[in-house]
Amino acid sequence: MAGASWAGSGPGERIGHDWGVTADAPTPGLEELRFYDTRTRQVQRFEPLAPPAVGIYTCGPTVYAPQHLGNMRPQLYPDVLRRLLTAAGYDVTYVTNITDVGHLVGDADDGDDKLEQAAATTGQTAAEIAARYTEQWATDRRLLGCLEPDVVPRAASHLAEQIAMIRTLEEKGHTYAIDDGVYFDVSTFPRYAEFAHLDLDEMETSGRIEHLEDKRHPADFALWKLTPPGVVRQQEWDSPWGRGFPGWHIECSAMATKYLGERFDIHTGGIDHVRVHHTNEVAQSECVLDVHPWVGTWLHNEFLDLKGEKISKSAGHVLTVDSLVERGIDPLAFRYFFFQAHYRQQQAFTFEAVEAAGTALRRLVVKAVEARDAGGEPDPAAVEPHLRRFWSALADDLNAPQALAAVWDAVRDPGFSLASRWAFLADADRALGFGLAEAEAPDADESGSDPRIDALVAERQAARAAKDFAASDRIRDDLAAEGIEIVDTPTGTTWRRSAG
Ligand code: AMP
Ligand code: ZN
Repeated sequence: MAGASWAGSGPGERIGHDWGVTADAPTPGLEELRFYDTRTRQVQRFEPLAPPAVGIYTCGPTVYAPQHLGNMRPQLYPDVLRRLLTAAGYDVTYVTNITDVGHLVGDADDGDDKLEQAAATTGQTAAEIAARYTEQWATDRRLLGCLEPDVVPRAASHLAEQIAMIRTLEEKGHTYAIDDGVYFDVSTFPRYAEFAHLDLDEMETSGRIEHLEDKRHPADFALWKLTPPGVVRQQEWDSPWGRGFPGWHIECSAMATKYLGERFDIHTGGIDHVRVHHTNEVAQSECVLDVHPWVGTWLHNEFLDLKGEKISKSAGHVLTVDSLVERGIDPLAFRYFFFQAHYRQQQAFTFEAVEAAGTALRRLVVKAVEARDAGGEPDPAAVEPHLRRFWSALADDLNAPQALAAVWDAVRDPGFSLASRWAFLADADRALGFGLAEAEAPDADESGSDPRIDALVAERQAARAAKDFAASDRIRDDLAAEGIEIVDTPTGTTWRRSAG
């Protein structure tokens, strides 16, 4: 719960503000938080159910294969969200699950369970596969600077909770059984189409949605899948309906309810989950619990576009945190790169872009270490407006690119003493998560080029990506004054010393 040792446990208790004003001054810029809610399709003021407590649930990885870098985006933005809420004085409980059973190869309720299939093709047991990729995911999260979740429940350890929910659905008349299992009948929940603005009639008549023949409606979904006669599965359990395994959607309803209560504040996940997985979570939960809305705010991330590097799980080459390390890229460079785009916008992955982010991060670390080690007394009046800009960018639906632009403006503020710069960065790093308090100054020059100029060029690229053209022009002009010319090419930005 209050767990995270780096932050206060309720409104008024803060760290990072030992630079003055008053001991319990609220973090500037966090007076009001606003998030875009998928359900209402509006940016809405955040009002938790029972402040200062805030519960967040994130749909976690299906642990049948390594998680690619795209899969880490739905871990990164809730990490920033959680840090933001903690800085705003909330007592956050963060839950993200492990899907180790029930996630089928397709959304159509046929096809095999991803874990069973991986076991059949690799010769390892489903349990070994799940343990291996859970560990890898947890390690990758840490390398990317994500705080440890408060609870990481596994679906296969929550069978009783899932079966209990399905029984309640059955008692309330929301289910029907076919040879293959027990299904949720969407016609019994009139709000079913609301969450994702689905057209159920069109789904039924178009025939474009693949689905099991025996289902009454294409949108009906499996709650319990029966093991066919003569088959033995690695993961199967007895149930009131026969031996089998739970559907994927019910696990999140059961685990979120168990750890966060019958209603909770924030649910997050990838944008692809809106139409099926989250629509189904809402249907089951609202029917079992008699609540509406089940969740206060739904946040969904757009995809990281990996096509530029032609790597995906299905192609057999998985672009992971390890792939960065193998190329000598600090995983925190990927965290910096993540900050360069809004979570609700697609972001194109290239190694080059992450390398440029790494250069900018090294530059920031140099600035931070210099300021940190200088000591001295900060000037609260100088720090406050920069912090206000930084935190209010994040308070505005997690506008990470604007927050990053605010960081660079603060660092470059000519009126800032080193002590004020450090006071700013130490506070902002509560959300940035770059570990600036412990960071060591990077080695001077590893590349044979000029790291200072490389970093300024990367900084300008970051400013441009954040549409902070005033900052990007200023850097270009500063470099021009030193006789350095920036050259934008289709493959990236370089620099050269201008002739004469
Ligand atoms: P999976 O393990 O396939 O269930 O995916 C885990 C999470 O990653 C889900 O929340 C997906 O929505 C999300 N996801 C999958 N691919 C991407 C991507 N390229 N960019 C961002 N999120 C993704
Ligand atoms: Zn889920």
